[in-house]
Formats: sequence, structure tokens, C-alpha cells
Amino acid sequence: SQKVKDAVLIPRYARVNEHKLTVQKAIKSFQNEGYTLVDCPEDLRELKLKEFCVDRHLHDMLIFHQKTDFHAHPLYVSGNIILQDKASCFPAHVCQAPQGAHAIDACAAPGNKTSHLSALMKNTGKIWAFDLDSRRLELLKKLTNKAGCKNITPVHGSFLETNPEDAQFANVEYLLLDPSCSGSGIISRLDHLVDDEDEKENANGQTQEERLKNLSDFQISIIQHAMKFPKAKRIVYSTCSIHPDENEHVVKAILKDNPEFELAKRDSVLPTWERRGIPAEIDGNKDLADRLVRTIPAEDLTNGFFVSCFIRKSGASSASN
Ligand code: SAM
Repeated sequence: SQKVKDAVLIPRYARVNEHKLTVQKAIKSFQNEGYTLVDCPEDLRELKLKEFCVDRHLHDMLIFHQKTDFHAHPLYVSGNIILQDKASCFPAHVCQAPQGAHAIDACAAPGNKTSHLSALMKNTGKIWAFDLDSRRLELLKKLTNKAGCKNITPVHGSFLETNPEDAQFANVEYLLLDPSCSGSGIISRLDHLVDDEDEKENANGQTQEERLKNLSDFQISIIQHAMKFPKAKRIVYSTCSIHPDENEHVVKAILKDNPEFELAKRDSVLPTWERRGIPAEIDGNKDLADRLVRTIPAEDLTNGFFVSCFIRKSGASSASN
């Protein structure tokens, strides 16, 4: 099927873990091994075996030929590089949490975005990493330790049950929300390939429509909860779904009910990434759609992904919450 073809064609993305290695040192190390650094071709499928390039949008992302296997590579085994799809590296960049900030990763496990955020914050400040699933949270602890993260506090439990007024969260300004979704954008892992027909009903006997409704209700509740943190000023919401129900429609519902927040303008949300939200799915509003980021596997050679960023309107205080 087309999906399988797309899956095979996705290049090998490797995020340099800046806790352990600079991008320059990573480049040197691959060159010493016989890889050749090239300018990124317009079509990444043109990268040849043993060639690599630095991504045009993300400074910490290296891109290799799709047949490159790094699972036994010393830089991967030691946590110096992290094998992470390009699109799933968007949220931590969009978050823009500066050094020393207090941040929350609300649905964090297995923790690739948490460790990325930690690296971008240069191991300073504090990140509370919540997850409901204890087994997955254990994995997060392992992965973030391996990555050398020292500013993460893992918390087992539902983010929805945390008290935003708790004094320990008084200075939380940045929240990264990557809640459970349908996963309909995931294609790069062959074990995730599902025929669309099979997706119509899931194991609980829910129709696709019911399932999406339950997911989007949950996603909306996670964003609403994040907005209750008194100092929340930048909230990044992402999914690996291609369904508007979990993406533009969720954003639309949030904007309607939370007038003290707005979407961050395109210039702070990966401005050079060309594929934006779908205007027709957000009341035909091209300006709002332009503030959103989407990826399409067959064209962008990443998983299907969606990123949005809410900011508190200037002048709006948390008292209006
Ligand atoms: N951000 C993760 C990463 O990049 O590695 C992936 C997160 S995954 C899409 C969604 C996670 O949300 C799952 O690990 C799930 O256990 C967790 N989750 C679901 N409901 C939750 C809740 N109410 N509070 C906290 N975590 C929750």
C-alpha cells in the first residue's frame, strides 16, 4: 500500500542530544566514520547512503539515508544521539522555554520530548513530567537518565488531578501537552501500520467517530487544565494524528472557551515550515490556520503530526481564568 511505501521512504532522523554532544562534534564524529556532510537536498530521498545533512528547520537534527541503521551505533547506545522523528521534535522547539524556566510535560512518557525540552533548557530550571501509566513512566526515567537530564521531576499520576494552585507550580510558565491521540499519523514504524478500514472500529466496539469524540474531549480537558496554571504563558499542544477532530477542531473549541488565550503568531511557531493548519477546518480563518503546523507523511517524509501553541494574551491575568 502507499502507507508502506511512505514508511520505507522516511529518512533516518537523529537528534543530537546536546546534553552530551554539540552538533559540531556529532558532525565531526560521523565524518570521521566516513559519512559525508552535504547540503540538505530539496527531496530528502535523494540523500545517498553514507551522506548526511543538518536539518533546515531544527538545528539539532541530523538526517541520514533511510537505510541507515543506528540501533547498535555507539553514539545511540550511549545516548549521544536520539532516534526521533523530525516532526516529534517540533513541540520542544516551539515551547521556547528559556534557561531557568519552570515547565510541565503533562503526558510525558516515554519521554523523548521531555529530554529534548531538558536539552533546550540546558539542564537548568525544572520540568515536571507527568504520566498516568507507571510502566511508561519507568521507561521515561530510564531514557531521561540515559540522556543525562538533571532538571526533570517524574510524577506518576493524572495531570488532570494536579492542583494548578499548588505552590510548587507557582512559576510554571511553559507547558508541553502531547496527550494520547488516535496515532493516525504514525507510519514510520511498520508495527504501527493499520489499514484505514480496520480503524473504523476499535477493540471496544467504538466507531471511529465515537473514538475521536472521546479522544478530543480528553485532549480539550488537558489543554483547559494547563490554562489554569496561574503563570502559564506558552502552552504547546501536539498530536501524531492527521484527523482535524483532534487538531484544528480542538484548537477551535479551546479558543472559543478561553478568551484570555490566543494562538501564537506564525513567527514564533516554526515560521519557515511551510505546511500550516487547514483553513477549512478552522472556520475558513487563514490567519489562524497559518499559526498552526501540520506534517503529511508522503510529502514531508515525517510522521503525520500537528502542533499548536497557545499564549496568554498580553494584559490577560490568570484571575480571569
Ligand atoms: N510525549 C511523549 C513522548 O514524546 O515521548 C508521548 C506521549 S503519548 C502520545 C501520551 C501519554 O499520555 C501516554 O504515555 C499516556 O500514558 C499519557 N496519559 C494519558 N492520560 C494521561 C493523564 N490524564 N495524565 C497524564 N498522562 C496521561
